[in-house]
Amino acid sequence: MIEVNKLNKYFGDNHVLKDIDFHVEESEVVVLIGASGSGKSTMLRCLNFLEMKNSGEIFIKGNEVNPKKDNVNEVRQKVGMVFQHFNLFPHKTVLGNVMEAPTQVKGLSKSQAKKEGKELLEKVGLAEKANDYPSRLSGGQKQRVAIARALAMKPEIMLFDEPTSALDPELVGEVLQTMKDLAKEGMTMVVVTHEMGFAREVADRVVYMHEGKIVETGAPKEIFENPKEERTQAFLSSIL
Ligand code: ATP
Ligand code: MG
Repeated sequence: MIEVNKLNKYFGDNHVLKDIDFHVEESEVVVLIGASGSGKSTMLRCLNFLEMKNSGEIFIKGNEVNPKKDNVNEVRQKVGMVFQHFNLFPHKTVLGNVMEAPTQVKGLSKSQAKKEGKELLEKVGLAEKANDYPSRLSGGQKQRVAIARALAMKPEIMLFDEPTSALDPELVGEVLQTMKDLAKEGMTMVVVTHEMGFAREVADRVVYMHEGKIVETGAPKEIFENPKEERTQAFLSSIL
């Protein structure tokens, strides 16, 4: 589904991603872990072309994406992204937020977007909030709207960058549950998170990044119970 070969990214002199080789299979859930500054967000942003790589290849569904040649907006439609801060449109209702991109970007009719939007809100458990404004929602509800909004573009892959980090602890579970449901339906997902319980339960693979490199990758059980690399061990003992 995604294949990355020898990806390099610099911010000025700062070499942030160093020869990254990375792949995600269809319906796979990959959890990306690593210390602050190790390059996790940059990696996701490169996959979504919010950041442009300096070198390397990125294939999405077997096609190499070259942002200079290809229409990046089209590619972005295939790759949904959910951030720590949800950035909902405050002046639009919940349903309005979910309908925005399909009508504005894809040219879907309002009635069709409404129908699909309502189905998505149902799916994330917020059907009854369709006509409320975001300011009336809890953080967990806002994040579920953000997930529905990303799904409205019918992405083939969903990227999550610390989707629960900004939430009060009691609201984390409902967002993780929504993500679990998506995983169960077979959505291909790359998730940056500090929720190791989620990683153990839902991830097919855990990828540990350190200073811009992938140091270790394996099944959650292997990584958490029997990490091979010293740096992985040190990182895990610092957070678990
Ligand atoms: P965190 O866990 O804190 O979110 P991260 O693993 O997501 O960290 P990144 O945000 O990818 O790390 O940052 C990797 C490196 O790239 C850091 O040194 C950071 O300062 C730098 N960096 C990230 N974004 C930019 C930017 N837009 N401009 C300049 N430097 C950046
Ligand atoms: Mg980050």
